Amino acid sequence: MTIEGISVDSPEALLGDYDVVIIGAGPAGLAAGIYAARAGLQCVVLEKGVAGGQVLTSPSIENYPGFPEVSGMKLMETMAEHARKYVDIKEGEEVLRVRGGEKYELMTVSGRYTCRALILSTGAYHRKLDVPGEDGMTGKGVSYCATCDGFFYKGKEVVVVGGGNTALTDALYLNSIGCKVTIIHRRNAFRADKHLQESISRLRIPVMFDTVVDEIIEGDAVASVRLRDLKTGVLSVKPTDGVFIAVGEVPSSQLASELGLEMDHGGFIVVDKSFRTNVPFVYACGDVSGGIRQIVAAVHGGAAAALSCFEDLMNPYYKR
Ligand code: NAP
Repeated sequence: MTIEGISVDSPEALLGDYDVVIIGAGPAGLAAGIYAARAGLQCVVLEKGVAGGQVLTSPSIENYPGFPEVSGMKLMETMAEHARKYVDIKEGEEVLRVRGGEKYELMTVSGRYTCRALILSTGAYHRKLDVPGEDGMTGKGVSYCATCDGFFYKGKEVVVVGGGNTALTDALYLNSIGCKVTIIHRRNAFRADKHLQESISRLRIPVMFDTVVDEIIEGDAVASVRLRDLKTGVLSVKPTDGVFIAVGEVPSSQLASELGLEMDHGGFIVVDKSFRTNVPFVYACGDVSGGIRQIVAAVHGGAAAALSCFEDLMNPYYKR
């Protein structure tokens, strides 16, 4: 059998046989790697991009204990460096398929891995608004990452869509680098943390509540968004240079489907309090398992999943 031109069934393609393979190198996967390796398990972390996950794009983090204020990039570089002391992190190693059997077998872009247990920490990706013009203007004025693209909008008008922690953090960041920011939110109240809301009002960043973006009007670059006031139904057009979309996350749970893992209505993997899934020797942690989706929670999940995995693989004394 071949996947993207690679003969994944050939014995030559076997790149490693481990006790546990951890998929995803965000905070959950890195914590899992540290705990699994320190427990004496042979393990590897496979990451399709670079170590750090979505946190890399967060402009500023103020609620991870021990780091009063730190950029997502700095925090994750520090965490990955720490993890590398214990565990091999293979970057650019996307897992394409996984199948169960006597051992789990993973087909990646470079070959094949086998393992006795799996920890899924595959994270989540940005939800789209799904409005006309969004796809066509992505990279041409529409962005899902304020830290990546904000610089290009210095001194320009931008809108941030959303009312959660990401939207407000992005709005504060864009404001701080000199963008003229307006927040557009579909309800009349934010769900973001209180201190972020207070910063938005202290800095007098304009907010359009009860408003949705119906369309991003296409041009050479974004020139305007078509808005709808949900209370009055009134339509308007707002000129803008950039549209930063921060309307939540969708779990990366494709591998979970292949493994037959139980998922909730949002596609998040269901786990018990020890981060075990419904399939033996498969664990899930971090954003892909839902919950409060905080770095500190992801780190807890990764550690707990690794320790559960260790107990299960060791056939723990209390079960004998
Ligand atoms: P979120 O908390 O799920 O918020 C998504 C926001 O987008 C909500 O305000 C939601 O509106 C709005 N929304 C969703 N779909 C929409 C649509 N189709 N059209 C318009 N608006 C839409 O997502 P998030 O802000 O990305 O945060 C994800 C997780 O990461 C959360 O658990 C968050 O706490 C965490 N996080 C934490 C920090 C931090 O602590 N510093 C920073 C970033 C993220 P409604 O409110 O009306 O539902």
